[in-house]
Amino acid sequence: MASPSSMTTTSSTTSKLVFSGCSTSSSSSSSSSRRFLPLTTATTSSKCRAFHFHRRFNPLRHVHLRPCKNPTTVFSQTINRPSFIAAAMATEASAKVIDGKRVAKEIREEVAAGVSKMKEALGVVPGLAVILVGDRKDSATYVRNKKKACEDAGIKSFEACLPKDTAEEEVLKHISSFNNDPAVHGILVQLPLPSHINEQNVLNAVCIEKDVDGFHPLNIGRLAMRDREPLFVPCTPKGCIELLHRYGVVIKGKRAVVIGRSNIVGMPAALLLQREDATVSVVHSRTKNPEEFTREADIIISAVGQANMVKGSWIKPGAVIIDVGINPVEDSESPRGYRLVGDVCYDEARQIASAITPVPGGVGPMTIAMLLSNTLISAKRIHNFN
Ligand code: NDP
Repeated sequence: MASPSSMTTTSSTTSKLVFSGCSTSSSSSSSSSRRFLPLTTATTSSKCRAFHFHRRFNPLRHVHLRPCKNPTTVFSQTINRPSFIAAAMATEASAKVIDGKRVAKEIREEVAAGVSKMKEALGVVPGLAVILVGDRKDSATYVRNKKKACEDAGIKSFEACLPKDTAEEEVLKHISSFNNDPAVHGILVQLPLPSHINEQNVLNAVCIEKDVDGFHPLNIGRLAMRDREPLFVPCTPKGCIELLHRYGVVIKGKRAVVIGRSNIVGMPAALLLQREDATVSVVHSRTKNPEEFTREADIIISAVGQANMVKGSWIKPGAVIIDVGINPVEDSESPRGYRLVGDVCYDEARQIASAITPVPGGVGPMTIAMLLSNTLISAKRIHNFN
């Protein structure tokens, strides 16, 4: 299992074809998407097939937007506040496009402003430490991206890049050293770790006050309990809820379905929705007839890792869809030979849902933004700065 802020992939050499695209998505739907959302043209088509990569891609491509004409009743008045970002309205498809890339940029700017305010007032610069064990190319890329994002926000980066045969004890020593370093306000262990290292031992060693990934059992436990507050909420699910908030989607009293129950996305996403007073169902690999649950949902968060699994027919008209899945599908037109799609059949969903996150450009960019935000929150808390 990989951390959301440490999204991972394996090389295409480990890939195999496992899934075909949206079954009911005809060439006409592909062509409509070509006309209205040019950069997502190939998001679904009947010929697309998914690779079963180990996982995790970072969707960073941009989606062009058009202003929304008809906000539906799932949106609250906050839709009109200045930070609200205008969403897309395509002619055949009614769903707004929830633009995670733009929201993430907005959050990163807010974090940068907070960081410089803190520096000015206290002379303190928030610091984020990343521990990377091994030489996986994908992990190294994500660590680099995080470092760059930290630099842009004015957050200081610390790194421990350790060889893949590093003993668990040695990794724990590095964690302990970052735990005790007053310049470090957040610690993130890049996952997956090599198999000889016990992931639980390592994650448990991060002190709860610096657990910016929110994976410490105490943070998750507090998230699950009424009247308790976690110090940190895991970045990807936090990003999902932030998107709903920033787009003015009403959560309270709504029926929500989370597809997937992993520790890093599905489970905390369900807990967060429940804390926001939604009535939540969790669908997983053993759920019979998952579409019976999703058809009742006002809000769907899908975190499965199966390309185009959620068909249009699974969706209640007007529902809001947050698609966390990042799945590579074969695409001979792409120079890379593949492109990324979500768990939700995008072309079909756009015609039924009221709002949807694209893949790429939806939840993906939010994860790092939330990591930066958690790091700033941590520094403020440690230095008692508001
Ligand atoms: P996991 O593999 O840890 O969990 C997948 C979950 O989906 C499991 O709970 C599993 O159920 C469930 N599941 C699998 N198949 C089905 C099915 N056919 N029907 C219903 N449920 C099913 O994955 P993650 O949670 O780590 O990631 C999920 C997706 O989100 C991936 O595509 C990943 O790349 C992406 N991701 C994106 C991030 C981002 O920043 N945008 C960050 C993290 C992940 P069970 O528990 O029964 O096995």
